Amino acid sequence: MRRRILLLKIGQVDKIILVKLKKNLEWIFKDFQIKVRILLKELDLKDSYYHPKKRKYNADRIIEGMKEYLLDHDFFRVLGIVNEDIYSGTYNFIFGRADGIISKIALISVIRLNEIFYNRTKDNSLFEKRILREAIHELGHTFGLSHCQNHCIMQFSNSLMEADNKPIRFCKDCFKKLEVFLSNT
Ligand SMILES: [Zn+2]
Ligand SMILES: [Zn+2]
Repeated sequence: MRRRILLLKIGQVDKIILVKLKKNLEWIFKDFQIKVRILLKELDLKDSYYHPKKRKYNADRIIEGMKEYLLDHDFFRVLGIVNEDIYSGTYNFIFGRADGIISKIALISVIRLNEIFYNRTKDNSLFEKRILREAIHELGHTFGLSHCQNHCIMQFSNSLMEADNKPIRFCKDCFKKLEVFLSNT
């Protein structure tokens, strides 16, 4: 079966981010015949997604916009990538969000994964790792995985420090669940 994850830019995003993410995701999911494709056209970051008081974009609205945009596309999963600050519900900011456990759409924001956001020196390799970590975590949710208590990429994290402490891999339990899920999908 053909399994393609589409990477979709939401607004302006550096293409190199997507190129590296594609390569890394294909490696991480190599056991599951998953391929990654970068969509050329980007989704506009609409003003209606923006919350002026919070000075952030509403992640759930962006996801709704992605659904509309993708209405006529046939796809396995879509991961949106935005380089703006996003929030959801009562969370002041989030790194990413899946449309739900077992869903087709997920979104990550890379802005807080960049050392530049904290006025620290740019670190491309750290940036790349963090993006990969968030991408796998949110895609994990779309593959039916909930948050995990083990030393695992599916651990919940609320801060960059917590996120940085997560391994870039699934624990044995989650990997097994993933195998079962993907063999039935
Ligand atoms: Zn999560
Ligand atoms: Zn786990």
